[in-house]
Amino acid sequence: MGSFKLGKMTLGSLFKKPETLLYPFETKPAPAGLKGHIENDMKVCILCGICQKACPAHSITVDKKAGTWTIDHFGCVQCSSCVRACPKSCLTMLPTYQKPTRAMAPEVFTKPEESEEEKAAKEAAKKAKLEAAMKAKAEREAAKE
Ligand code: SF4
Ligand code: SF4
Repeated sequence: MGSFKLGKMTLGSLFKKPETLLYPFETKPAPAGLKGHIENDMKVCILCGICQKACPAHSITVDKKAGTWTIDHFGCVQCSSCVRACPKSCLTMLPTYQKPTRAMAPEVFTKPEESEEEKAAKEAAKKAKLEAAMKAKAEREAAKE
């Protein structure tokens, strides 16, 4: 009786879709809220280092001089403290796992070079801010007299 059941199961499985996936070529859709891995939008990151201080696993290294933000995905415990601490909201906990790799090396993100337009816009914003602050100061002093 047992071998009949086993034979039936074996035959049945020949015509069924396999239960397993051919990972990494096929992946399951990630469930909502899955803590996969951290990504940094380096265009927004200001390399302030707050995430490095907030990380309980010491998995983040910020090098402002070199313009790099490095994460050791193998040390990361997916707690999201860095995401919550970041003042620029440029860190995201993506619901996907890292690609398989042979080397346990940290991932290095590099700050992209600013274009001339971006530099000019930044300078203009800085100038406008300074002018507004000076104007406000002058108005305050005028009101005192
Ligand atoms: S806290 Fe945010 S802005 Fe600051 S270094 Fe980390 S990722 Fe960049
Ligand atoms: S998720 Fe937690 S452990 Fe991972 S890098 Fe961010 S703060 Fe560190």
